[in-house]
Amino acid sequence: MRFASLGSGSAGNCMVIEQASTRLLLDCGFSVKETIARLARLALSPEDVTGILVTHEHDDHAKGAFKLASKLNIPVWLSHGTRVMTERHLPSNASVQMHVVDSHTPFAIDDIQVSPFPVPHDAREPIQFSFSNGEHKLGVLTDVGQTTPHIQQMLSASDALVLECNHDVTMLAQGPYSYALKKRVGGHLGHLDNASSAHLLAQLDNRKLKHIVAAHLSAKNNTQALAKKALSQALNCDDDWVGVATQDTGFDWRAL
Ligand SMILES: [Zn+2]
Ligand SMILES: [Zn+2]
Repeated sequence: MRFASLGSGSAGNCMVIEQASTRLLLDCGFSVKETIARLARLALSPEDVTGILVTHEHDDHAKGAFKLASKLNIPVWLSHGTRVMTERHLPSNASVQMHVVDSHTPFAIDDIQVSPFPVPHDAREPIQFSFSNGEHKLGVLTDVGQTTPHIQQMLSASDALVLECNHDVTMLAQGPYSYALKKRVGGHLGHLDNASSAHLLAQLDNRKLKHIVAAHLSAKNNTQALAKKALSQALNCDDDWVGVATQDTGFDWRAL
């Protein structure tokens, strides 16, 4: 199994998870044209994509998902709430094969086992996922206002983790956002700050962990150095061992 990111942050998110010939897109918050250009950097074409998972309806995750799905006849997996909230994204006269998933029930897409779990975030029925090929496990968590015991359980014993490090609490407080936006981002249905992400990481069973990547960093309220420092302290490892998913380039393939 290997995984990569096409870009991460409030201007668009998309990851690729690959096992043998099964390739899943996790979210698609870029335009179709941009997604195709970014897939090409990973030597992939959109025809290589088996399915698209949409975590929630926010544009930075759902913007291009349904247009890409309808253009290339790619099935989409999403929660009932996300389906209701994304109907406006469906191209007129287009049919997209939708699989509505229960947020607590694992399922398989060809060679990849997918385990959804609900998260607190200001969307209708947001879910996040872990992925397994039966041997190795990748856990992904972004767009979450606070952690829960269930999230901790779902991410524990992963071989690879991609964890939201949205903001530094002090930078958010002193930064340029309006009071209302600061309350939203920093609230229990907003985004995970570096220290909360590090606290979650420190509580997990990390004995198998080979990759840790900080994701969904705010351009205004965080720095790569602060996110790396927070996660490396939680693992007691070198800062350089912590990867960062950037908005412009995401991150290159990592193999499990
Ligand atoms: Zn987001
Ligand atoms: Zn969101």
